[in-house]
Amino acid sequence: MAKQIIKIDVKAKKADIARVKTDVAAIGVFSDVKKSASLDSLDAKLAGAISRLKKIGDFKAAAGSSIFLYTHGKIAAERLLLIGLGEKKQADSETFRRAAAKAAFEAVNIKAKTLAIFLNDEKSNADFEKLGQTLAEGIHFGGYRYDEFVTQSSDGRSGVLSATIASDSQSAVTKLSKGIKIGQIIAKAQNFARTLCNRPGNILYPSEFAAAARKIAGAVKGLSCTIYDDKKLAAKKIGGLNAVGRGATHKPRLIILKYAPKGKKKTEPLALVGKAITFDSGGISLKPASDMHEMKYDMTGGAAVLMTMEIAARLKLPVALYGIICAAENRPDGGSYLPGDIITTYSGKTVEILNTDAEGRIVLCDGIHLAKTLKCKTIIDLATLTGACVVALGKHKAGLFSNNEKLAKSIEQAAKDSGEPVWSLPYGQEYADEIKGKIADMKNIGSKWGGACSAAAFLGEFAKPAVWAHLDIAPTMDASEPIKKYAEPGSIGFGVRLLTEFLRSQK
Ligand SMILES: [Zn+2]
Repeated sequence: MAKQIIKIDVKAKKADIARVKTDVAAIGVFSDVKKSASLDSLDAKLAGAISRLKKIGDFKAAAGSSIFLYTHGKIAAERLLLIGLGEKKQADSETFRRAAAKAAFEAVNIKAKTLAIFLNDEKSNADFEKLGQTLAEGIHFGGYRYDEFVTQSSDGRSGVLSATIASDSQSAVTKLSKGIKIGQIIAKAQNFARTLCNRPGNILYPSEFAAAARKIAGAVKGLSCTIYDDKKLAAKKIGGLNAVGRGATHKPRLIILKYAPKGKKKTEPLALVGKAITFDSGGISLKPASDMHEMKYDMTGGAAVLMTMEIAARLKLPVALYGIICAAENRPDGGSYLPGDIITTYSGKTVEILNTDAEGRIVLCDGIHLAKTLKCKTIIDLATLTGACVVALGKHKAGLFSNNEKLAKSIEQAAKDSGEPVWSLPYGQEYADEIKGKIADMKNIGSKWGGACSAAAFLGEFAKPAVWAHLDIAPTMDASEPIKKYAEPGSIGFGVRLLTEFLRSQK
């Protein structure tokens, strides 16, 4: 369990690019910057190799591009890796995060053990702490590989990547180090969220997810964990989660994590609620076979909540938190819930099930109601909820719904800061009207159109009167084509950095 094949570590160091002995020395290049003191001096040492590359057109420094150069002993590094940053005027923190990810991704691909990233003409007034965090996040993101079940790997990966971020200024190094410390806590947690999501349904099922949560809570100060099994769910009439999970041999679990910051004045707790369907076959409303294996990612929201709770405790954030994870396996079986069933959710509201594959909202509505009983006045839920959201946004952004403009704005800001993009989608009465029931209070699907919006409206009915936001992360449950240029396919642990930056912005 939790075997991370490649151990990644990042530190900062004052160093001269020509003198550092490393398997790979990486440096970023803007496509529209003609003069750069550090690149020009490097070019001179390499007898004009960089300028020749540019001249013959092999490297245009477009964002996402990179090229290796062999140094033939002219500098101490074995190889030089030029990373394209695109146009300087377009660059933001995500440009540097992706560049660092690309450097680590390429370094791991050639089995390098050491990587040194050199800062290129950074201004002395730059925010080096933030930059250190961003680069550390990028290095871990790009260096990650999921191969815990590969027993006969022939490619002989080195198993370690020791990365250095080098600058010629000691004061920059001090600030970088501070940021790297934060970035590594966030990135390691995010990579473990990826591992949880990448684990298949026969390995990671609800009780295993609960065991992972218990282990994490046990290892971090300030974090506690309570787990309800199926008997407790039935006894407490947590009827949505119980209905969805009862058909599977692996029974459902409700995981309640609590983080109480030490020494701070009591703040009203905020709740993060995550959908963790460890495998979603669709249930009796069975999904088509093609791509069904990807439904192991249907617990991405739960993984993001778990790992954000760990980060909050490790960074000692001054925000009281509950992390509520609704874990179930959705399977067809003799005991499965059926289309047409009317279930009574934890809130007491009844729901007519019209499609058993719309199970995410059925487990989440119980989690959201639980958050209210725990006196949380602000609730954010994350769920790989609807295919409709992927249709609306492609695989590039998560859908954001909220009943509160201020909360939505701060989530949008956190999305910019974290490089995990969201896009606001509508929330309103017209969508809530679509899921009003006739023979029960509600039904679990709306009309043919706007399925992401009616799903959000369903959850909103349970969140009232709390300040609430819902993130439909179905679009971002695994790597999009642009992301595959600097990270491996599979889970990207979406939501961990976003929630963390949101919480860090809450004072
Ligand atoms: Zn489903």
